[in-house]
Amino acid sequence: MFNVSPIPAFQDNYIWLITNNNHAVVVDPGDAAPVEKILAERGLTLDAILITHHHWDHTGGVKALLASRPQAQLYAPAAEAMPAAGAIALSDGDKISLPTLALELKVMSVPGHTLGHIAYYAHQQPEAPLLFCGDTLFSGGCGRLFEGTPKQMHESLQRLASLPDDTRVYCTHEYTQANLAFCHAVEPNNPELKKYLQNVAKLRQQGVPTLPSTLAREKAVNVFLRAHLAGVRAAAQVHQGAELIGDIEVFAALRRWKDDF
Ligand SMILES: [Zn+2]
Repeated sequence: MFNVSPIPAFQDNYIWLITNNNHAVVVDPGDAAPVEKILAERGLTLDAILITHHHWDHTGGVKALLASRPQAQLYAPAAEAMPAAGAIALSDGDKISLPTLALELKVMSVPGHTLGHIAYYAHQQPEAPLLFCGDTLFSGGCGRLFEGTPKQMHESLQRLASLPDDTRVYCTHEYTQANLAFCHAVEPNNPELKKYLQNVAKLRQQGVPTLPSTLAREKAVNVFLRAHLAGVRAAAQVHQGAELIGDIEVFAALRRWKDDF
Protein backbone atom coordinates (compact mmCIF):
# COMPACT_ATOMS: atom_id res chain seq x y z
CA MET A 1 0.00 0.00 0.00
CA PHE A 2 1.43 3.38 -0.94
CA ASN A 3 1.48 6.46 1.25
CA VAL A 4 1.55 10.14 0.25
CA SER A 5 3.07 12.88 2.39
CA PRO A 6 4.15 16.51 1.87
CA ILE A 7 7.75 17.73 1.93
CA PRO A 8 7.59 21.49 2.59
CA ALA A 9 9.88 23.60 0.37
CA PHE A 10 10.51 27.34 -0.05
CA GLN A 11 7.79 29.62 1.42
CA ASP A 12 4.69 27.60 0.65
CA ASN A 13 5.46 24.76 -1.79
CA TYR A 14 4.80 21.10 -1.14
CA ILE A 15 6.85 18.43 -2.88
CA TRP A 16 4.64 15.34 -2.69
CA LEU A 17 6.40 12.15 -1.66
CA ILE A 18 4.77 8.84 -2.60
CA THR A 19 6.25 5.83 -0.83
CA ASN A 20 5.68 2.10 -0.73
CA ASN A 21 7.96 0.18 1.64
CA ASN A 22 11.42 1.62 0.89
CA HIS A 23 10.58 2.92 -2.61
CA ALA A 24 9.76 6.54 -3.33
CA VAL A 25 8.56 8.90 -6.04
CA VAL A 26 8.50 12.70 -5.76
CA VAL A 27 6.26 15.13 -7.58
CA ASP A 28 7.58 18.59 -8.56
CA PRO A 29 10.84 18.76 -6.57
CA GLY A 30 11.62 22.48 -6.79
CA ASP A 31 14.45 21.94 -4.31
CA ALA A 32 16.63 18.83 -3.88
CA ALA A 33 17.81 19.42 -0.30
CA PRO A 34 14.57 18.71 1.61
CA VAL A 35 13.97 15.63 -0.59
CA GLU A 36 17.49 14.28 -0.02
CA LYS A 37 17.05 14.79 3.72
CA ILE A 38 13.84 12.71 3.88
CA LEU A 39 15.19 10.00 1.54
CA ALA A 40 18.30 9.65 3.72
CA GLU A 41 16.39 9.73 7.02
CA ARG A 42 13.97 7.06 5.89
CA GLY A 43 16.39 4.99 3.79
CA LEU A 44 14.26 5.38 0.66
CA THR A 45 15.22 4.56 -2.94
CA LEU A 46 14.06 7.26 -5.35
CA ASP A 47 12.55 5.47 -8.37
CA ALA A 48 10.94 8.34 -10.25
CA ILE A 49 10.44 12.09 -10.44
CA LEU A 50 7.17 13.42 -11.83
CA ILE A 51 6.92 16.97 -13.17
CA THR A 52 3.64 18.83 -13.83
CA HIS A 53 5.04 21.95 -15.53
CA HIS A 54 8.26 23.83 -16.24
CA HIS A 55 8.32 26.49 -13.49
CA TRP A 56 11.53 26.58 -11.44
CA ASP A 57 9.79 26.02 -8.10
CA HIS A 58 8.62 22.66 -9.48
CA THR A 59 11.78 21.60 -11.32
CA GLY A 60 14.73 23.32 -9.59
CA GLY A 61 15.81 20.19 -7.70
CA VAL A 62 15.64 17.75 -10.62
CA LYS A 63 19.26 17.90 -11.81
CA ALA A 64 20.74 17.54 -8.31
CA LEU A 65 18.41 14.62 -7.50
CA LEU A 66 19.28 12.83 -10.75
CA ALA A 67 22.98 13.37 -10.07
CA SER A 68 22.79 11.69 -6.67
CA ARG A 69 20.04 9.19 -7.61
CA PRO A 70 20.84 8.19 -11.21
CA GLN A 71 18.42 5.25 -11.07
CA ALA A 72 15.44 7.62 -10.82
CA GLN A 73 13.38 7.99 -14.01
CA LEU A 74 12.25 11.52 -14.85
CA TYR A 75 8.78 12.12 -16.32
CA ALA A 76 7.80 15.55 -17.66
CA PRO A 77 5.26 17.19 -19.99
CA ALA A 78 6.07 16.67 -23.69
CA ALA A 79 4.89 20.15 -24.65
CA GLU A 80 7.35 22.00 -22.38
CA ALA A 81 11.12 22.36 -22.04
CA MET A 82 12.55 19.27 -20.34
CA PRO A 83 14.02 19.95 -16.88
CA ALA A 84 16.92 17.51 -17.56
CA ALA A 85 18.12 15.00 -20.14
CA GLY A 86 16.65 11.50 -20.22
CA ALA A 87 13.08 12.45 -19.38
CA ILE A 88 10.13 10.45 -20.62
CA ALA A 89 7.90 13.02 -22.34
CA LEU A 90 4.22 12.69 -21.45
CA SER A 91 1.04 13.75 -23.24
CA ASP A 92 -2.66 13.51 -22.52
CA GLY A 93 -3.85 9.93 -22.10
CA ASP A 94 -0.40 8.43 -21.47
CA LYS A 95 -0.11 5.94 -18.65
CA ILE A 96 2.85 5.44 -16.32
CA SER A 97 3.41 2.25 -14.45
CA LEU A 98 5.48 2.42 -11.25
CA PRO A 99 5.68 -1.25 -10.23
CA THR A 100 7.85 -0.71 -7.13
CA LEU A 101 5.15 1.64 -5.81
CA ALA A 102 2.31 -0.62 -7.03
CA LEU A 103 0.96 2.53 -8.67
CA GLU A 104 -0.37 3.35 -12.12
CA LEU A 105 -0.94 6.95 -13.13
CA LYS A 106 -2.85 8.48 -15.99
CA VAL A 107 -1.68 11.72 -17.58
CA MET A 108 -4.18 14.53 -18.16
CA SER A 109 -3.39 17.62 -20.20
CA VAL A 110 -4.54 20.69 -18.22
CA PRO A 111 -3.32 23.85 -20.01
CA GLY A 112 -3.91 27.30 -18.54
CA HIS A 113 -1.28 28.11 -15.89
CA THR A 114 1.28 26.99 -18.49
CA LEU A 115 0.46 25.67 -21.96
CA GLY A 116 1.93 22.19 -21.52
CA HIS A 117 0.82 21.64 -17.90
CA ILE A 118 -0.12 18.05 -17.08
CA ALA A 119 -1.74 16.38 -14.07
CA TYR A 120 -1.26 12.82 -12.80
CA TYR A 121 -4.30 10.79 -11.75
CA ALA A 122 -4.54 7.35 -10.15
CA HIS A 123 -7.64 5.36 -9.35
CA GLN A 124 -6.93 2.05 -7.69
CA GLN A 125 -9.74 0.38 -5.74
CA PRO A 126 -10.31 0.34 -2.82
CA GLU A 127 -8.13 3.47 -2.40
CA ALA A 128 -9.71 6.86 -3.09
CA PRO A 129 -8.40 8.34 -6.37
CA LEU A 130 -5.34 10.61 -6.25
CA LEU A 131 -4.73 13.74 -8.30
CA PHE A 132 -1.40 15.57 -8.52
CA CYS A 133 -2.46 18.76 -10.26
CA GLY A 134 0.55 21.08 -9.84
CA ASP A 135 -0.50 24.73 -10.13
CA THR A 136 -3.79 24.11 -11.95
CA LEU A 137 -6.23 23.55 -9.07
CA PHE A 138 -5.56 24.84 -5.54
CA SER A 139 -7.76 24.44 -2.53
CA GLY A 140 -10.10 27.41 -2.90
CA GLY A 141 -8.29 28.67 -5.98
CA CYS A 142 -6.57 28.01 -9.29
CA GLY A 143 -3.25 28.89 -10.87
CA ARG A 144 -2.59 32.24 -12.48
CA LEU A 145 -2.93 32.38 -16.25
CA PHE A 146 0.73 32.86 -17.18
CA GLU A 147 0.48 31.23 -20.61
CA GLY A 148 -3.05 30.04 -21.31
CA THR A 149 -6.43 31.67 -21.84
CA PRO A 150 -9.37 31.75 -19.43
CA LYS A 151 -11.17 29.31 -21.75
CA GLN A 152 -8.29 26.81 -21.57
CA MET A 153 -8.05 27.03 -17.79
CA HIS A 154 -11.81 26.80 -17.32
CA GLU A 155 -11.90 23.67 -19.48
CA SER A 156 -8.94 22.15 -17.62
CA LEU A 157 -10.64 22.77 -14.27
CA GLN A 158 -13.92 21.36 -15.55
CA ARG A 159 -12.06 18.25 -16.62
CA LEU A 160 -10.55 17.84 -13.16
CA ALA A 161 -13.94 18.53 -11.56
CA SER A 162 -15.45 15.64 -13.54
CA LEU A 163 -13.24 13.13 -11.67
CA PRO A 164 -14.86 11.25 -8.74
CA ASP A 165 -15.93 13.36 -5.73
CA ASP A 166 -13.69 11.43 -3.33
CA THR A 167 -10.54 12.20 -5.38
CA ARG A 168 -7.80 13.48 -3.08
CA VAL A 169 -6.33 16.66 -4.54
CA TYR A 170 -2.60 17.15 -4.00
CA CYS A 171 -1.90 20.78 -4.93
CA THR A 172 1.62 22.19 -4.88
CA HIS A 173 1.08 25.32 -2.76
CA GLU A 174 -0.26 26.12 0.70
CA TYR A 175 -2.42 28.97 -0.56
CA THR A 176 -5.66 27.72 0.98
CA GLN A 177 -6.26 30.40 3.61
CA ALA A 178 -5.73 33.36 1.25
CA ASN A 179 -7.78 31.62 -1.44
CA LEU A 180 -10.70 31.09 0.92
CA ALA A 181 -10.69 34.79 1.89
CA PHE A 182 -11.30 35.50 -1.80
CA CYS A 183 -14.01 32.81 -2.08
CA HIS A 184 -15.69 34.40 0.95
CA ALA A 185 -15.68 37.81 -0.77
CA VAL A 186 -17.47 36.22 -3.75
CA GLU A 187 -19.85 33.99 -1.75
CA PRO A 188 -20.22 35.47 1.77
CA ASN A 189 -23.20 33.22 2.53
CA ASN A 190 -21.82 29.82 1.49
CA PRO A 191 -22.23 27.68 4.65
CA GLU A 192 -19.73 24.99 3.52
CA LEU A 193 -17.17 27.70 2.90
CA LYS A 194 -17.69 29.22 6.37
CA LYS A 195 -17.10 25.82 8.02
CA TYR A 196 -14.00 25.15 5.91
CA LEU A 197 -12.58 28.63 6.63
CA GLN A 198 -12.75 27.89 10.36
CA ASN A 199 -11.12 24.47 10.00
CA VAL A 200 -8.35 25.86 7.81
CA ALA A 201 -7.66 28.71 10.26
CA LYS A 202 -7.21 26.13 13.05
CA LEU A 203 -4.92 23.93 10.94
CA ARG A 204 -2.74 26.87 9.91
CA GLN A 205 -2.49 28.10 13.51
CA GLN A 206 -1.02 24.69 14.33
CA GLY A 207 1.21 24.77 11.22
CA VAL A 208 -0.56 21.73 9.74
CA PRO A 209 -0.94 21.43 5.92
CA THR A 210 -4.49 21.95 4.63
CA LEU A 211 -3.83 19.49 1.79
CA PRO A 212 -4.80 17.17 0.28
CA SER A 213 -8.28 18.47 -0.35
CA THR A 214 -11.04 16.51 -2.08
CA LEU A 215 -12.94 17.31 -5.25
CA ALA A 216 -16.24 17.18 -3.33
CA ARG A 217 -14.99 19.95 -1.05
CA GLU A 218 -13.55 22.01 -3.89
CA LYS A 219 -16.83 21.84 -5.78
CA ALA A 220 -18.58 23.10 -2.63
CA VAL A 221 -16.23 26.01 -1.81
CA ASN A 222 -13.91 26.89 -4.71
CA VAL A 223 -15.47 29.72 -6.75
CA PHE A 224 -13.31 28.81 -9.77
CA LEU A 225 -15.32 25.57 -10.00
CA ARG A 226 -18.58 27.44 -9.37
CA ALA A 227 -18.74 29.95 -12.25
CA HIS A 228 -21.96 28.28 -13.45
CA LEU A 229 -23.89 29.27 -10.30
CA ALA A 230 -26.20 32.30 -10.40
CA GLY A 231 -24.86 33.73 -7.12
CA VAL A 232 -21.24 33.55 -8.27
CA ARG A 233 -22.07 35.12 -11.62
CA ALA A 234 -24.01 37.92 -9.89
CA ALA A 235 -21.04 38.74 -7.61
CA ALA A 236 -18.61 38.70 -10.56
CA GLN A 237 -20.91 41.00 -12.56
CA VAL A 238 -21.16 43.49 -9.69
CA HIS A 239 -17.38 43.52 -9.33
CA GLN A 240 -16.85 43.81 -13.08
CA GLY A 241 -19.59 46.41 -13.49
CA ALA A 242 -20.81 44.63 -16.61
CA GLU A 243 -23.00 41.75 -17.71
CA LEU A 244 -21.08 38.49 -18.12
CA ILE A 245 -22.30 36.01 -20.71
CA GLY A 246 -21.48 32.36 -20.13
CA ASP A 247 -19.30 30.50 -17.63
CA ILE A 248 -15.99 31.38 -19.32
CA GLU A 249 -16.62 35.14 -19.02
CA VAL A 250 -17.57 34.63 -15.37
CA PHE A 251 -14.44 32.54 -14.79
CA ALA A 252 -12.25 35.16 -16.50
CA ALA A 253 -13.76 37.94 -14.36
CA LEU A 254 -13.17 35.91 -11.19
CA ARG A 255 -9.55 35.26 -12.17
CA ARG A 256 -8.93 39.00 -12.83
CA TRP A 257 -10.66 39.90 -9.55
CA LYS A 258 -8.45 37.44 -7.64
CA ASP A 259 -5.30 38.81 -9.33
CA ASP A 260 -6.00 42.21 -7.70
CA PHE A 261 -7.46 40.88 -4.45
ZN1 LIG B 1 3.71 27.27 -11.71
